Amino acid sequence: MLDTTKDRNPMPEELDALVIGTGVSGLYELHQLRQMGLKVHACDAASDVGGTWYWNRYPGAKFDSEAYIYQYLFDEQLYKKWTWSERFPGQREIERWMHYITDSLDLRRDITFSTTITSATWDETSGLWTVETDQGDSVRVRYLVCCTGMLSAPLTDRFPGQSSFDGQIVHTARYPKEGLDLQGRKVAVIGTGATGIQVIQTIAPEVDKLTVFVRTPQYVLPMKNPKYGPAEVAWYKGRFDELKSTIPHTFTGFEYDFEQAWADLTPDQRHQVLEDTHADGSLKLWLASFGEMFFDEEVSEEISEFVREKMRARLKDPRLIDILVPGPDDYGFGTHRVPLESQYLETYLRDNVEAVSVRDNPIAEIVPEGVKLQDGTVYEVDVIIMAVGFDAGSGALSRIDITGTDGMTLAEEWRKDIRTTLGLMKYGFPNLFMTGAPLAPSAALCNMTTCLQQQTEWIARCIRDLRDSGNDVIEPTQSGEDAWVAHHDETANATLISKTESWYNGANVAGKPRRVLSYTGGVGTYRSLCNEMAENGYPSFVMRKTAIPATA
Ligand code: NAP
Repeated sequence: MLDTTKDRNPMPEELDALVIGTGVSGLYELHQLRQMGLKVHACDAASDVGGTWYWNRYPGAKFDSEAYIYQYLFDEQLYKKWTWSERFPGQREIERWMHYITDSLDLRRDITFSTTITSATWDETSGLWTVETDQGDSVRVRYLVCCTGMLSAPLTDRFPGQSSFDGQIVHTARYPKEGLDLQGRKVAVIGTGATGIQVIQTIAPEVDKLTVFVRTPQYVLPMKNPKYGPAEVAWYKGRFDELKSTIPHTFTGFEYDFEQAWADLTPDQRHQVLEDTHADGSLKLWLASFGEMFFDEEVSEEISEFVREKMRARLKDPRLIDILVPGPDDYGFGTHRVPLESQYLETYLRDNVEAVSVRDNPIAEIVPEGVKLQDGTVYEVDVIIMAVGFDAGSGALSRIDITGTDGMTLAEEWRKDIRTTLGLMKYGFPNLFMTGAPLAPSAALCNMTTCLQQQTEWIARCIRDLRDSGNDVIEPTQSGEDAWVAHHDETANATLISKTESWYNGANVAGKPRRVLSYTGGVGTYRSLCNEMAENGYPSFVMRKTAIPATA
């Protein structure tokens, strides 16, 4: 259950800017707009800050990016005053860090928690949004900045019969704050994405019996997670300037980049690069071995086979290999999210863990006793943990009733076709900005903090430029949006990512229009394109002044 006992800050009735969401981007956006002198406020459905790191408190939740790069880099002291305990810390520590950021920047006084935005309606005459909440608030606001998250709309209703289950059923992104007592219980985990893997490897020693329902086998890389002592902390803090100058410009927003070309190396040299990056215990093999894996089928297959062989060697058992290791005809390594794991594969060698393939015999429904497959087999369990993912990119905003010009609603537009301009605005929705949205680099192939800082900084700059120009409304043009969508598609369709079924292209949600959701042209390139757009006077946008002056 959510903690809704905290005092609720009142929502102001009139604002220059409202920031929806207080995760990584919302907190920084609030800070920046406040620094600019705007009357700005933030709100969040959660009872505290954290976004992803508030909601995803399931057992084993942790970073897959190194802690010292999953950082705000706009303030050296803010960076240096926080000390991480290990290379890939867990959710509790991350949540504490987000509280530290919030309190250091004194953000709490401008945040209303436990409040869900239900609707936002644009008024063309005044150039204002009217925003309503589930707590009965009504706010008139000039700039609506939606920091609502790329992976924040959980697919909670996935199977028929869920409400008939006699035990406890929980989606990982709604895991109870007080936890679940799993000791000595029969537990089912559905899903083996990055989330399921973290849950499975963490709870297996605790439960009586763990049954994992596996549909598509998943490539995994082993994590090395050393504790940080004073020497490691001094090492990364001493690199602040270096990290600040490199991270924003790499292909993925990590500190490392693709440095060698496949064609320039001998087979032995290539193998050595794969061994070295694999041994690093990070996402380096995926994001800093050979960029050709995303474009060239042969390179993709060689690297995929390298990873499969590593996995097979650990599993040994042919039945487990069949269920858990992708085959050559499945999909290529890295064409959707590669999770890091700690003894995940070995977990299946335990006596109390069973892997059940639901590829050819899918889950038909949830029944009072447990999970029922299509062939009628019922797995009786006490607890079902659904690690079944999210309606990514467009999901969070589509769940709000947002009406732009001419009665156009965002949910309806995105039901037809998921389009944006630079992933930052949408034609027909003036003064509505978004981060972590479709067609910007986010989550897929990106260290989220790098991308989100850049996006929030662009939004703050855009609002400043708009005001400096004497205008108060900005909106993408239809042709500007067409151009961005065409560039995005051309870039994405050149990659193998577009050919793999996953949340990366909306394949995990029935009826969702297919499009690679994240921009795949590189984080550094995207930054340059956004900067050029601003420096050239926002050619893909129109600016205007409303007849009625701002109220705030
Ligand atoms: P996900 O990658 O979408 O994985 C969902 C899993 O549920 C898949 O294994 C999927 O199988 C399975 N599933 C869905 N519907 C099913 C059904 N009807 N029957 C059987 N299986 C079903 O979701 P996620 O693991 O929550 O991860 C989402 C993203 O969150 C990640 O890609 C990552 O970007 C982020 N994340 C990050 C971290 C981190 O950085 N530390 C940790 C966790 C998550 P199919 O593949 O067959 O559809």
